[in-house]
Amino acid sequence: MSVHTVRGACPHDCPDTCALLTTVDHGVAQEVRGNPEHPMTAGVLCTKVSRYTERTYHPERVLTPLRRTGPKGAGQFEPVSWDEALDDIAARLTALAAKDPQAILPYSYAGTMGLVQGESMASRFFHRLGASLLDRTICASAGGEALLHTLGGKVGMRVEFFAESRLILIWGSNAIASNLHFWRLAQQARRAGARLVCIDPRRTETADKCDEHVQLQPGTDAALALALMHELIANDWLDHDYIARHTLGWDALRERALQWPPQRAAQVCGVPADQIRALARDYGTTQPAAIRLNYGMQRVRGGGNAARAIACLPALTGAWRHRAGGVLLSNSGRFPARRDVLQRPDLLAGHQPRTINMSTIGDDLLRPASPAFGPRIEALVVYNSNPVAVAPESGKVAQGFARDDLFTVVLEHFRTDTADQADYVLPATTQLEHWDIHASYGHTDVLLNRPAITPVGEALTNTEIFRRLAARMGYTDPCFQEDDLTLCRAAFGDAVDFDRLLSHGYAPLPVPEAPFAQGGFPTPSGRCEFYSERLARQGLDGLPDHLPNHETPGSSPRYPLAMISPPARNFLNSSFVNVKSLRDIEGEPVLEISAQDAAARGISSGGVVRVFNDRGEYHCKAVVSARARPGVVNGLGIWWRKLGLRGTNVNELTSQKLTDLGRAPVFYDCLVDVQAL
Ligand code: SF4
Repeated sequence: MSVHTVRGACPHDCPDTCALLTTVDHGVAQEVRGNPEHPMTAGVLCTKVSRYTERTYHPERVLTPLRRTGPKGAGQFEPVSWDEALDDIAARLTALAAKDPQAILPYSYAGTMGLVQGESMASRFFHRLGASLLDRTICASAGGEALLHTLGGKVGMRVEFFAESRLILIWGSNAIASNLHFWRLAQQARRAGARLVCIDPRRTETADKCDEHVQLQPGTDAALALALMHELIANDWLDHDYIARHTLGWDALRERALQWPPQRAAQVCGVPADQIRALARDYGTTQPAAIRLNYGMQRVRGGGNAARAIACLPALTGAWRHRAGGVLLSNSGRFPARRDVLQRPDLLAGHQPRTINMSTIGDDLLRPASPAFGPRIEALVVYNSNPVAVAPESGKVAQGFARDDLFTVVLEHFRTDTADQADYVLPATTQLEHWDIHASYGHTDVLLNRPAITPVGEALTNTEIFRRLAARMGYTDPCFQEDDLTLCRAAFGDAVDFDRLLSHGYAPLPVPEAPFAQGGFPTPSGRCEFYSERLARQGLDGLPDHLPNHETPGSSPRYPLAMISPPARNFLNSSFVNVKSLRDIEGEPVLEISAQDAAARGISSGGVVRVFNDRGEYHCKAVVSARARPGVVNGLGIWWRKLGLRGTNVNELTSQKLTDLGRAPVFYDCLVDVQAL
């Protein structure tokens, strides 16, 4: 037993949710690799997670609770015992709660996607406390609402059948960097004769390897989708029987789409009308045709409408009839996770605290108390998130976190930009050190994560930290004593065979191969809703349409360039930025700029540039590259501010405006200019 292997699951915010095998020798994790038995993982991990032991045993892991000793943000801390830290935190939260618990805000996202170390004991704690609720919008809520109002939920094609598709549109996804295992299936399809088309404003590594790249302007995806519909209608590449039986609102959508001839969309999207016509012909005359959509394209004002328009396409051609046809943005809605059992909203006991949108944390931390807003935010408890680096308009976020009168607790592995602003940093376990259970948004298997090693240093699981805080605050409900294995079992109850999870590490859900071949969409009408009565009742357009960006390219003489900020290939949001071997591959924070835009500004590759707008400025190195289309610059993210030039990162420039659906941020709807330094 000195050398053994432990089954686990990758916790990161990635659709692939890989099954891990960790080799442990005398209590030390030696290697993390992909489980070859898990069909989706097939024994392969991305570069990031194959370095997981480097991250776990990183010399900069936070090993003990830390208490701030210097000014806010100076990064000066002293080690303290768990009892000292938790006694003080509980006392501070109790005092605030006595005035108004809504002054306390939890802040968390997908630093782990685990259902147990994510929102289980933490939610129970904050519900019992009566803290403000957090609207977790930062990544996927525009696309999620779009799917809800079109297909009925986060449901779509089963990913494995992309391997049998004849045409794959990879729309808004750099699959090689952020959906590697889907890319393997796409390659399989291609070897069998499929055509791959990448639709993306950036010429990504994925675009390089596809048969065609449609390099549209950011925020114009709905216009492209409507023009494709126009051509499907004009050429009668439609499945009339499928439309009649399984869709709602066809006549209205038809009228809308006919307003979008390719020449009109070409002007909006900045791509040739003939390319749109040819793409429509391919899509309309090839079966099975599949669309892999990802969340990048919904990070603009009209992102929800765009995802809705794209999600309508397979119902027009009847692509859903085939198991290798349809669209996949997320299948997370397939998982029968019992979130109410894990999170216990009943502990609110009839109270309805206010809700704060995590995407506007910059403004909200600076907002005074008011009847409309409620109390000023006086305490923040951050876990599984690094908002100072990842939230939009980070100058304001940093200013808010720097408030002297804000009490901040951060559960973390490392001294991130956010941890530097904390009053207490509490050392949390990594995935190799705790139990968890995982759904996925890219495939349809449940995964169990077993602890492979004992916690490093004095690290505790998130659940244990909230259990201990709950005890100190006098919360006696038995739910605060449940252990992590009990929580793992409770997550899916009888819907998933837990014994199979214990023995194999994963368990497939019983999802039909072609889920909508006979319609049966989980919408109120049971049909694919081109027209959504629910949206119309909210006063919104019931049909999908193109909504121009908040910051439309060409609308500002001062800021003539549109900026998008897709992830650098070796980082996952702000995770892994401090793993040296990965950071060495990325080198430095960079801005990709076209030769034309660079020449106009006297910029050359390797030179330091100042990227700026009214919200702030970001300093980084320029890379003159065909990866950027003229008029658009790509600021690869998300670097920690303190590891960037002059303590800045790309979110200095992004705005706190929101999307049309889902109240999500608009990271890719951002005008800037660039200057050589
Ligand atoms: S980040 Fe994605 S590809 Fe990499 S190991 Fe995790 S789930 Fe797999």
